[in-house]
Amino acid sequence: MADFVGAIDQGTTSTRFMIFDRAGTEIGRSQIEHRQILPAAGRVEHDAREIWENVRKTVDGALANAGLVAPDLAAIGIANQRETVVLWDRATGEPVAPAIVWQDTRTAADLKELDAELLRERTGLPPATYFSATKVRWLLDNVDGLRKRAERGEVLFGTIDSWLIWNLTGGELHATDVTNASRTQLMNLTTLDWDPVLTEIFDIPRAMLPEIRSSAEVFGVTSSGVPLAAAIGDQQAALFGQTCFEPGDAKCTYGTGNFVLLNTGTTPVRSTHGLLTTVAYRFKSQLPVYALEGSIAATGSAIQWLRDQLGILESAAASETLAARVDDTAGVYFVPAFSGLFAPYWRPDARAAIVGLSRFHNSAHITRAALEAICYQTRDVVVAMAQDSGTDLDCLQVDGGVTANALCMQLQADILGVPVSRPAVAETTALGAAYAAGLAVGFWTSQDELRANRGESRRWHPSWSAEQRQDGTTRWRAAIDRTLDWV
Ligand code: ADP
Repeated sequence: MADFVGAIDQGTTSTRFMIFDRAGTEIGRSQIEHRQILPAAGRVEHDAREIWENVRKTVDGALANAGLVAPDLAAIGIANQRETVVLWDRATGEPVAPAIVWQDTRTAADLKELDAELLRERTGLPPATYFSATKVRWLLDNVDGLRKRAERGEVLFGTIDSWLIWNLTGGELHATDVTNASRTQLMNLTTLDWDPVLTEIFDIPRAMLPEIRSSAEVFGVTSSGVPLAAAIGDQQAALFGQTCFEPGDAKCTYGTGNFVLLNTGTTPVRSTHGLLTTVAYRFKSQLPVYALEGSIAATGSAIQWLRDQLGILESAAASETLAARVDDTAGVYFVPAFSGLFAPYWRPDARAAIVGLSRFHNSAHITRAALEAICYQTRDVVVAMAQDSGTDLDCLQVDGGVTANALCMQLQADILGVPVSRPAVAETTALGAAYAAGLAVGFWTSQDELRANRGESRRWHPSWSAEQRQDGTTRWRAAIDRTLDWV
């Protein structure tokens, strides 16, 4: 068997291909950012064609960087940004509209008519612009002739995993995995199949939906002969990459948004504190494993906003040095509710605010407040998770782009009051997709083998007093209140 496994990590801001050896060590990578198309307030789009080209380029680039060729890969897996909607023409394989990204809020007005109780019961998800269903309906209703063509089976829907499976198998397979399907708000969480009640509510023709498969099985073979052996939503992939295989294991990934997932085993746990119930992974025909999830829409994207829209940062990494110029935010709080507030609030009417400013404050205070906001939002979700599950975290396992920021991770330990641990391989999303693909083809033989690969690169311990933490949390909640009822 070949000595390496590859993983496509198709994220919100960039596409990576990473190659790992049997010890889970990175051997090579290539990464390309794609355009964030922002045609109007609240709208966020991607070009699916650009994304597919970036996948091809990064696969070739990473193989070249590692001095390998495709046959050196035993399998490849896909981890992908979830919920984002791609519609394409079955005959030509061309997208028929821009991809609508999970952060897009154009369907906010449609939420009022939805039955929250029914949706939560069937899908584990509340009504929100976040999920795919309202976005698919919007395209069918707003692009000329699309609904008719979709009814005839000429136009296909997929989340990014489906789009990549379709392209990687040369247009032979229209499939998705159960974790991605669980984010469309069209899949029934118990039957793990498309739910006719939901497709009727959202008015989505069955003919355009992909086949739902497990997360780790051979979907097909790429044009260079490598088995495509996993597809899994990026947050579930990170849970897998952190080897959170036991009920009670949890991780937080810090990227464009933050996502805390807690493995709850083979029974779905219904949240009463604003969390989502979702499929964590399913291995071939085994029972599915479920998770409770706290999704936070804007965390790293607040840093991007300071860099790109305000121009006060040269780079995302510069946020650490700038924020370190001051000892604290001097009373400034920044709630980056650019797309409303997700978990645990679910308030689409919220919009971002920076509060507590006086003339004394400068870009360092605002940047530090953006870092603190990442941590306070995570704390809100971790508290909800403890309330739902009845167990407190004793340590938070972290990964993702923002964990490169040591100041932010120290603030996270301070604001949570528990240690924060970053693994040796910070790219756990790609690693999780590689693990799932490698297990599916027998490259790895057990979860224990994967657990043995896990090492810690750094740990941060809380340094704030309980009083400081309490005071900060109270002020943060007051800042949250200021953002509500805005649109
Ligand atoms: P995604 O998979 O969502 O594209 P990544 O894990 O690649 O996200 O992380 C990218 C995000 O992390 C961006 O929003 C960027 O602003 C933020 N980021 C990257 N490096 C840093 C850093 N050193 N400090 C703070 N934020 C950072």
